[in-house]
Amino acid sequence: MTQYVYAFSEGSKEQKELLGGKGANLAEMTKLGLPVPPGFTITTEACRSYLAAGTEPGELRVQLTMALRRLEDDLGRRLGDRHDPLLVSVRSGAMHSMPGMMETVLNVGLNDASVKGLAEESGDERFAWDSYRRLLQMFGKTVLEIDGEVFSNALDEAKSAQGVATDVELNVDSLKGLVSTFKAVILEHSGDEFPQHPREQLDMAIRAVFDSWNTERARLYRRRERIPQDLGTAVNICTMVFGNLGETSGTGVAFTRDPASGHSGVYGDYLVNAQGEDVVAGIRNTLSLADLKDLDPSSYKQLLQVMRRLETHYRDLCDIEFTIERSKLWMLQTRVGKRTAAAAFRIATQLVDENLITMDEALQRVDGAQLAQLMFPRFDAAAEKTRLGKGMAASPGAATGQIVFSSKAAEKAAAEGQAVILVRKETNPDDLGGMIASQGVLTSRGGKTSHAAVVARGMGKTCVCGFAELDVNSAAGTATVNGEVLREGDMISIDGSTGEVFAGEVPVVSSPVATYLESGLDEALKDTDPDTGELVRSVDRLLTHADSIRRLRVRTNADNAEDAARARHLGAQGIGLCRTEHMFLGDRRVLIERLILASGSEERQAVYDELLPLQRQDFVELLTAMNDLPVTIRLLDPPLHEFLPDRTELSVKVALDRAAGNPDPDEERLLAAVDKLHESNPMLGLRGVRLGLVLPGLFALQVRAISEAAAGLKAQGGNPQVEIMVPLVGSVMELFLIRDEADQILATVAQEQGVELDIPIGTMIELPRAALTAARVAEAAQFFSFGTNDLTQTTWGFSRDDVEGGFFATYLDRGVFMVSPFESLDVDGVGRLIRIAATDGRKRRPDLKLGVCGEHGGDPDSIHFFHQVGIDYVSCSPFRVPIARLEAGRAAV
Ligand code: ADP
Ligand code: MG
Ligand code: MG
Repeated sequence: MTQYVYAFSEGSKEQKELLGGKGANLAEMTKLGLPVPPGFTITTEACRSYLAAGTEPGELRVQLTMALRRLEDDLGRRLGDRHDPLLVSVRSGAMHSMPGMMETVLNVGLNDASVKGLAEESGDERFAWDSYRRLLQMFGKTVLEIDGEVFSNALDEAKSAQGVATDVELNVDSLKGLVSTFKAVILEHSGDEFPQHPREQLDMAIRAVFDSWNTERARLYRRRERIPQDLGTAVNICTMVFGNLGETSGTGVAFTRDPASGHSGVYGDYLVNAQGEDVVAGIRNTLSLADLKDLDPSSYKQLLQVMRRLETHYRDLCDIEFTIERSKLWMLQTRVGKRTAAAAFRIATQLVDENLITMDEALQRVDGAQLAQLMFPRFDAAAEKTRLGKGMAASPGAATGQIVFSSKAAEKAAAEGQAVILVRKETNPDDLGGMIASQGVLTSRGGKTSHAAVVARGMGKTCVCGFAELDVNSAAGTATVNGEVLREGDMISIDGSTGEVFAGEVPVVSSPVATYLESGLDEALKDTDPDTGELVRSVDRLLTHADSIRRLRVRTNADNAEDAARARHLGAQGIGLCRTEHMFLGDRRVLIERLILASGSEERQAVYDELLPLQRQDFVELLTAMNDLPVTIRLLDPPLHEFLPDRTELSVKVALDRAAGNPDPDEERLLAAVDKLHESNPMLGLRGVRLGLVLPGLFALQVRAISEAAAGLKAQGGNPQVEIMVPLVGSVMELFLIRDEADQILATVAQEQGVELDIPIGTMIELPRAALTAARVAEAAQFFSFGTNDLTQTTWGFSRDDVEGGFFATYLDRGVFMVSPFESLDVDGVGRLIRIAATDGRKRRPDLKLGVCGEHGGDPDSIHFFHQVGIDYVSCSPFRVPIARLEAGRAAV
């Protein structure tokens, strides 16, 4: 028999999956002997079974009856009895907290008869009728799905009829009248009388909680928060305690420390003579807990004791809900509380200092995403600001610039060196150029998976989306927000970390954590306030600890000395990917044009002779910046056409010149070459190792430049640690062919310069075939570096450049994946290939070094996977190096 019902005294905080977060923690508090009103929890399994079958399992009905009977016996009261009735709350509570998404009904069990019993037993008629009208209101709204406004309007009318401002002032007669009104509303809107039978109320409320799992807004919330859709919710049946029993009663919420700063102390709100949701609903002004101390010192003292008990037991910041009924304290909820990124770091080290947790545990209390948040520049808190409103925080950062309404305008302004914010209703793939040109993007429509949001996050660009108050009229070149008209060229500031939008230019300051990471602790602690100092020290302690326990090394992707030096400051232990294509751009593009147009080996050699000293110098600078640390240089990867003019533009030019009667022979030759190199699928075409094999001398040039740079530095006493990496290998044969040539060059250069050169040659694994034949590939490769961007493209068969702003929004929305596989590694598919390649490669060559380059090297979830499969190092952009260090440490705990 499946157990669908657990008494609070049976469960524990470990059982969140089965009992939901609320139920598991109510059970834990009961176990601790804290004052929790007795009750029981219906499992998430019962909910799943109900949702699948459309009706509750028969066993559930029986177990519910038994649990209720036991509760009644324990308390000596019957649910909804006409004398001294037992009343309960019916509360949703899923495994993951989904604030405000699902339903709760209080005072279940009240009816026309039991309301009188409650009045008599409590000696407070007003309280009884207030509780009844609350039940009718909540039941009508959440169980019978009647528009809540109908009830709140009637409540307002009753207040004005009696001439009072707040609902606590309503007298018994008004409340009795309101009960009649609410019952009439229910009959009118639902077609049925309000159910008088207590058990019928209970069953209906339970079903409503089950059903609330699948409301549109709950589904939407879960999609956004990446919570699976099939978990279901638990339902908690909890004996009512009453905060609305006069002046010695009340209800409140509290944190065991400040969730914003992390400082210990007592933070919370209290409302006298109120029930449940009145506190959050903001219908009356709340008191602080300090006021409670004056009102009811003994309850206050007990509350402090309970809070201390919870902190030492959970060993973390907790938030709580409590009610005081006639000076008796009751605990109604607790959980480990949400907190800001800064508070997370502070609290983690505070708890270490209080001997509640170890450094290893502290590391589990923070994550890379939080560290990233702390690194972004931010708006100066002290600056004066005009706040226009708030949209969705889609991609963090603080951006300020002139408003532009089109991508064209953005590109034009950026070309003139102006900072702009692209403001649109929504963006589409045509806006890519405009987004790149802007400091940030602001849209009035769309959520966190809209095109703007997905693309901006991918580019690391600040973005606020779904700012609904903003009415964008791009044709007119204006946008209106709450009556204020903004025009093209006006300054605007957007905060992608909070979603806030400000008029004008808000000054930006760099974050103290970024200063610490780039320039060290001393620099960051110069003239900071104590709070900031504490934060920076916490980050330092946790990062240092992560460094001391992690097995994964962290390298960076960098193509020039400047980036390399910056990354080194941020803790990079070498370069995992140096892309050489940038060394062929700019002034050197003409050389590549000549190379492509060359008619024979002599002409080609002439170009190589010009390129060699330039390339050598590039490598000298890079290797100097990374002296003593490994530097992996990738031979040329992209298709050649990327170095040539745009095909369409060139065709038009040639056609125009021809039509005008003066064709340009150079242009004609160039166009012929462009036509010849044109591929309909260039990413799957002539690139990488294929290029090296087809275009004689190209890879040889690069290998020579690299080895000469290394030899020269070595001769001067330097310690260059260079590695050569061949891209896009699919067959070991390709690699053998390149190696034959490369090994010869290395030997020649070593001899010429009279130094010993130890330059390992390895390959990228970015084609499924390379992964599947890794045992063979390892015969020729001294290391593997997983190029997870291309490996994802080639495994899924979709082109990143085309799909991320395209159909991915739909795929995310419809749950094909929870997160773009370009952002976080697809462990089941691409991850499987990595596992195979790692295992097979090491079987053939036990000392095979394994690295990862590509976006995933800096992604927290992916890093944990790389740790598990035994990768030696990850490589990521300089900015993400500290994040990778932290996550690699967390993975090793
Ligand atoms: P939510 O998850 O939205 O916070 P809850 O189930 O916690 O919903 O309940 C809503 C409000 O009702 C909370 O303020 C809670 O403290 C209060 N509440 C719930 N059950 C009881 C009860 N048995 N007695 C008194 N107040 C209750
Ligand atoms: Mg609650
Ligand atoms: Mg690649």
